[in-house]
Amino acid sequence: MVVKDLKSVSSTEGWKVMRRANPSLEQELVESVVKADLRKQERLKKIEERKVYLQLYEAMEALLHICRDGCRTIGPCDKMLKGSQVACNFLACKGLESLVRHFSKCKSRVPGGCIHCKRMWKLLELHSRMCDEPDSCKALLCRHFKEKCSNKQRKKKLSENCWST
Ligand SMILES: [Zn+2]
Ligand SMILES: [Zn+2]
Ligand SMILES: [Zn+2]
Repeated sequence: MVVKDLKSVSSTEGWKVMRRANPSLEQELVESVVKADLRKQERLKKIEERKVYLQLYEAMEALLHICRDGCRTIGPCDKMLKGSQVACNFLACKGLESLVRHFSKCKSRVPGGCIHCKRMWKLLELHSRMCDEPDSCKALLCRHFKEKCSNKQRKKKLSENCWST
């Protein structure tokens, strides 16, 4: 309770009396407020980090879903797309859909290329790092990144251009 209202309390008479009588107590109280403030900041930071993590997680799920099943207007070429009649449960899907569409069409399509492709590469690379079944994984470039990581086929050309859009 003291912690909460330190500002208003510190201007009261009782506080001034206490201060004269026991200056170190004030210091202690101020420190405890600062600590409480820091804890609050840390908590907020954690919440913020969690939010970013969740968004990223959603993007990852949606990415895999697009690469595996296809969604609405985009998907792997061996899948029959269901068109727009199916409502998609993945929140991040809509944004990803256009990103993937761009990625499959964009001329540059290199890691340092246009801003959309850059984002796509980041996502794909992130997926590949978390993916533990690259051999059966349908995600775009998943194996490419794995191979790049293991340094075996560094110069392998991108051959995954098979999208029905
Ligand atoms: Zn979807
Ligand atoms: Zn691009
Ligand atoms: Zn994968």
